Amino acid sequence: MPALEDKTRELIELEERHGAHNYHPLDLVVERAEGVWLYDVNGKRYLDCVSAYSAVNQGHCHPRILEALTAQARRVTLVSRALRSARLPRFLEKLTALCGYDMALPMNTGVEAVETAIKLSRRWGYDVKGIPQDRAEIVVFNKNFHGRTTSAISASSNAEYRRSFGPFTPGFVLVPFGDIDALRRAITPHTAAVLIEPIQGEGGVNVPPAGFLSEVRALCTQQSVLFVADEIQTGFGRTGTMFACDFERVKPDILVVGKALGGGFYPVSAALADAPIMGLFQPGDHGSTFGGNPLACAVAEASLDVVVDEDLPGNAHRMGDVLMRAVREANSPLVADVRGRGLLVGIETTISARAISDRLLERGIAAKDTHANVLRLAPPLVIDRETIDVLAATLREVLAELA
Ligand SMILES: *Cc1c(COP(=O)(O)O)cnc(C)c1O
Repeated sequence: MPALEDKTRELIELEERHGAHNYHPLDLVVERAEGVWLYDVNGKRYLDCVSAYSAVNQGHCHPRILEALTAQARRVTLVSRALRSARLPRFLEKLTALCGYDMALPMNTGVEAVETAIKLSRRWGYDVKGIPQDRAEIVVFNKNFHGRTTSAISASSNAEYRRSFGPFTPGFVLVPFGDIDALRRAITPHTAAVLIEPIQGEGGVNVPPAGFLSEVRALCTQQSVLFVADEIQTGFGRTGTMFACDFERVKPDILVVGKALGGGFYPVSAALADAPIMGLFQPGDHGSTFGGNPLACAVAEASLDVVVDEDLPGNAHRMGDVLMRAVREANSPLVADVRGRGLLVGIETTISARAISDRLLERGIAAKDTHANVLRLAPPLVIDRETIDVLAATLREVLAELA
């Protein structure tokens, strides 16, 4: 056993020596994974409650997505958008049908799809709404997370994300999440869009007050402002509905998706809108060498099929209810709040969340803190009832130990 543990230490030291220190990962070195389970270099098994920030909603190495990936990899993987590929049309048809929009623009990482939505919103603001050039504003919310590019951090309220990275992209206006009056005051004739996560994931699993999304939708329609939803983390079943906006039957003007669209195999993201908005992009306006490549399309099609055919939103809804009820019923003095929807669960703790996640790791559960005092539990959506019960029981034991 000590020799095996040496292997963990050796790999961590090697990574620390040659990799930039821009993350603070758990001391778990994963060698393989399947479904909801991770296996470290010593062969020890862990329940994955991170799901790569919801990128593996379908579970690790899902055989159906693996098959699509390998079959496509033998045919053709990349042609760039200078040519047309036989895979792209059917992927676009499937994605737009599932999401309920006329058109999609495929990118790779989430933040690129956010960037796409920002550019599209500004274009609409100038060409349709008639905002004077270079004056467009986009309203965003405190504690948002839209990625790590210069523009995305320009929209952030988080000092850690921004420190020594200025000058920032202008045109973002911050308001408190959940405050409809503040939003109303922030909207001006120069406002092109409101960019919102329907539930803030990285910000600490913050659920807005009931009715907030509907009120934002109504306000945007009334003020002629685009409603842009960043569902990169909440999309594709995570919160117990296909999209978190569905919970209030709200339809965004621009929908931004990523993460689980690639099933954990491959980065695939997209911005979606109806033709009067997406049609504002003309050849040369925007693009990406790898965006919408054949391999991405094959993986994403299979990833969407799994979400639908295995009813992952329904399972997330049922299992999330069981998990949240169990944590609440534990009545732990260490738990200040339990919030979330579906299998996006945030536990606000009175002690450091890292202390709890370290203890959970010893017991074979990989869960990560988001900010100092919120533990996020977000297992793959294929998790079954038995495993949810084990997770809940282990968490209660750890809370009892630390109390
Ligand atoms: C993860 C995330 C992003 C950024 O996605 P990347 O693939 O890391 O660029 C943007 N918005 C939200 C809400 C996210 O959770």
